[in-house]
Amino acid sequence: MSILFNKFEVRIRLAAIRANYRLLCGHGGRVIGVIKADAYGHGLCEVARALAQEGCDTFAIGSVEEGVALRQFLRQEGITARVIALLGPVDAEDYAPLWEHEIIPFVGSFRQLETLAGQAARMGKALPVSLKFDTGMARLGFTGADVPRLLERLREAPLVRPVMASSHLATADDPGAVEFVLEQGRRFEDIVSALAQGGYPVEANLANSAGILAHKKLHHQSQRGGIALYGANPFAGTSWEHLGKGLAQAMEVRTKIVSVHPLKKGQSISYGATYRAERDMTVAIVAAGYADAYSRGLSGKGAQMLIGGRRVPQIGRVCMQLCACDVSEVPDARPGDWAVLLGGEGPLAISADELASWWGTISYEVFCLLGMNRRVFI
Ligand SMILES: *Cc1c(COP(=O)(O)O)cnc(C)c1O
Repeated sequence: MSILFNKFEVRIRLAAIRANYRLLCGHGGRVIGVIKADAYGHGLCEVARALAQEGCDTFAIGSVEEGVALRQFLRQEGITARVIALLGPVDAEDYAPLWEHEIIPFVGSFRQLETLAGQAARMGKALPVSLKFDTGMARLGFTGADVPRLLERLREAPLVRPVMASSHLATADDPGAVEFVLEQGRRFEDIVSALAQGGYPVEANLANSAGILAHKKLHHQSQRGGIALYGANPFAGTSWEHLGKGLAQAMEVRTKIVSVHPLKKGQSISYGATYRAERDMTVAIVAAGYADAYSRGLSGKGAQMLIGGRRVPQIGRVCMQLCACDVSEVPDARPGDWAVLLGGEGPLAISADELASWWGTISYEVFCLLGMNRRVFI
């Protein structure tokens, strides 16, 4: 694979993640650190350790396999923390590790519940679980209407121990969708009270990063913070942008310049000859391409990089391991110099949302994809 054998350096500022965690904790309640997908590309183990140092005692990962990897790391480090698997068990192989590695699965279907109950009974060992409810995402979870039958089945399966109830907000980052958020909040409240009345007074959590920052009323005993930990503003480009103030982006991505040479007026550059020089210019060929997760979709979208402390435009099609920039304004650019694709120093730093807007995606995907390159922790 080209990734990991390229000139990329993904620099992760763990101090920024720790500060972002403290900022989220300042909004009240327990903050569960969402570190699924390799901590959104920031490094599962390193981020877990940094958050644990800030007092984080509960981590949410995606698959059970990720949970196993995290638990092995936590044991090695002597860190005691709860590990929650947001996807829950997907296939037969996912069940036994829940007990062996003390993973709390999200359980959102009767099928999962029956399988867990059967396994618990065979082993004679209880398992703490988080009950997952669908209040508007229509993705995973029991619905409010399932609650009576759920309570019945839980009573028949005493080794399946609900310790938590969760649901996920679909529109918490959208100032124009408050009504939808509040409706999800009401549905979740009803479910949590029904569980309590049914004898299951569990720790509830609903809010994601945007919910933590914008919807205090939807806070419960705990919240699940993801993207804000990594310093992207969930409200970027909206009228609520100020609510993400103080978050610090933890990821910076840079790579090397391979060549610097002139491009004469009228000459085209890269595949398809889609870009033609309107004046004599100087171009830098940079070691970044779609094989490094610097998407070909960025071609011709006005994307920028930082070279020699200046913003320079990417030009022509992005190739597999190369792309071009106009460095006419950076006379001292040389092969071997750094080109910054994400982050950087000072007011010219490229935010994940800015890169995402050129890319036609969101900060989450920018982090997950670029984060697959070689990382350095600073
Ligand atoms: C990813 C995820 C989160 C975190 O969401 P952010 O928007 O990144 O804060 C919370 N809950 C669930 C169920 C998730 O899958």
